Amino acid sequence: MTQMPQPTEAPVWTPADPVLQVRNLHKSYQDQHVLRGVEFDIHQGQVKAVLGPSGSGKSTMLRLMALLEPANDGEILLRGRPLGVRERGATTVPLPERELAKERRDIGMVFQKFNLFPHLSACRNVMLGLTSVQSVPHKEAEERAMAMLERVGLSHRAGHYPSELSGGQQQRVAIARALVMNPSVLLFDEPTSALDPELVGEVLDVMEGLANDGMTMIVVTHEVRFARRVADQVTLFDSGVIVEQASPDEFFDNPQHQRTRKFLSHVH
Ligand code: ADP
Ligand code: MG
Repeated sequence: MTQMPQPTEAPVWTPADPVLQVRNLHKSYQDQHVLRGVEFDIHQGQVKAVLGPSGSGKSTMLRLMALLEPANDGEILLRGRPLGVRERGATTVPLPERELAKERRDIGMVFQKFNLFPHLSACRNVMLGLTSVQSVPHKEAEERAMAMLERVGLSHRAGHYPSELSGGQQQRVAIARALVMNPSVLLFDEPTSALDPELVGEVLDVMEGLANDGMTMIVVTHEVRFARRVADQVTLFDSGVIVEQASPDEFFDNPQHQRTRKFLSHVH
């Protein structure tokens, strides 16, 4: 009897495994090596706060994770499956744009500068991804958008245009826009850095609510108090690598690395 060849199967992902894994991620722009082997895991429902100096590659890391740019090397696995690439023989090649767009739905991103469409109302901004990317019927998209605006405390501003909203309200619309796609992971890139100080709290409150509801989040931020209170893990990022990664208490009260101590001495 001839032996049948065994199919090589990918290991089965279970909810006990990390929902997102970043492995040996590298990115260069021209001759500048911006990400130099970033590695981390995040489990479902965890909040990871990422701190680090300006220019250290934090935004680049998030853009790669949101599939807005390809990596030069390494991989991003969502529930054990590599994102943004397709296997071709022994090598992997980037997915074509149409398929990338599908995978992007699973990773939400909130930017420092909101990036709302000025000619669309708050509700239309939130609906857009559903109607244009997912072909959800208008009425259903509107209902789902309204539910998300309610969740960020803005259902009474649904008909307002971005210019009629405060920065904090615009950022909450941007959060609703990301949430409505029902992402597996939500990435925040300094979501309160462009806001007047008195508007920061309302955005952090919404984010804390999402964290309490079990949303998996990676938050690049300078808000040390928020990181300490809300995050499950705090990470120091510097020169394109993760320097330290620990629970908030360990990170802030007993940092292991000199680089972390130096960073904290400037922000405390
Ligand atoms: P951070 O968010 O930590 O401030 P960034 O990821 O924005 O850092 O940038 C890291 C480095 O990569 C910076 O030196 C920046 O100038 C460079 N960089 C980022 N994006 C680009 C790009 N699209 N083209 C060229 N250089 C870039
Ligand atoms: Mg940045």
